Amino acid sequence: MLAYTYIRQGEFRLLDKPKPVLRDTRDAIVRVTLGSICTSDLHIKHGSVPRAVPGITVGHEMVGVVEETGRDVTHVRPGDRVAVNVETFCGECFFCRHGYVNNCTDPDGGWALGCRIDGGQAEYVRVPHADQGLSRIPDTVSDEQALFVGDVLATGYWAARISDITPEDTVLIIGAGPTGICTLLCVMLKRPKRIIVCEKSAERRRFVQAHYPDVLLAGPEDCLDVVRRCSDHGGADRVLEVAGTDDTFRLAWECARPNAIVTIVALYDRPQLLPLPDMYGKNLTFKTGGVDGCDCDEILQLIARGQIDTTPLITHRFPLRRIDEAYRLFERKEEGVMKVAISAE
Ligand SMILES: [Zn+2]
Ligand SMILES: [Zn+2]
Repeated sequence: MLAYTYIRQGEFRLLDKPKPVLRDTRDAIVRVTLGSICTSDLHIKHGSVPRAVPGITVGHEMVGVVEETGRDVTHVRPGDRVAVNVETFCGECFFCRHGYVNNCTDPDGGWALGCRIDGGQAEYVRVPHADQGLSRIPDTVSDEQALFVGDVLATGYWAARISDITPEDTVLIIGAGPTGICTLLCVMLKRPKRIIVCEKSAERRRFVQAHYPDVLLAGPEDCLDVVRRCSDHGGADRVLEVAGTDDTFRLAWECARPNAIVTIVALYDRPQLLPLPDMYGKNLTFKTGGVDGCDCDEILQLIARGQIDTTPLITHRFPLRRIDEAYRLFERKEEGVMKVAISAE
């Protein structure tokens, strides 16, 4: 089968590999029908994910059809259409039982697919702990509608959930890339009083304006002004930082009002400074990443009911055999790309 493979730092290549087989009674084999490329894939390519193992098939955003299941898998059956979770988790350890599945202590726990074990930019993928890692897609939901459920949308949903948003809140979201937009969609479900999105790219600000006209927009340079002008208590009640640049961490807590919640969704390349003397008296609550991706069934129900729609994020489509081109476009952010969909054919 075709499998996009991490060869060495700076090089991914489409190889012909054997089809995966069941290794554990809790595994499932999924025929991938649609996948996507994530910024984390680029981090692997550029060597900034030390855990990534050369030779593995990359890709951790995908949907497909269950082909085969181990004998202890009870939640899904061959023939089921499923969304695959980026996180592998056992469902039984202390952290899993409390919903903190990102910290699952199982040896396979955490981000394994497309990093430590073969992922889904391929024709087939083996999913460990399939009862936890696969969610059945309702019949009325298409592959494109379900494509981001297991990764960027799970992240946005988790970020909105832990931010404890109320109807009185002014919410600031920093970053309008794919994860920022997914976060926006999930924040919108909480119906806060106002939402402000800060994004440095004019192209992406236009994307937000075109699709979500009720959202207020700002760039990094006028963000603090816009937030102060448009919030009731001198700053945002909730800040969700999804951009992850050196300036946006500071911007996040500067834009927050006293006693606000600042949720850090972003993954930074470098350590960030927490200048406690400067923020003394603001009494902020910080919540930090990464995602506990345990709400996928709920998210699929919201999609089925028409309450979340991430399909506008799919700006480009490629077949798996042309995945090199898709990576080039995604990496260079050409042609207004947000997300690419990679189909089996
Ligand atoms: Zn990802
Ligand atoms: Zn666990």
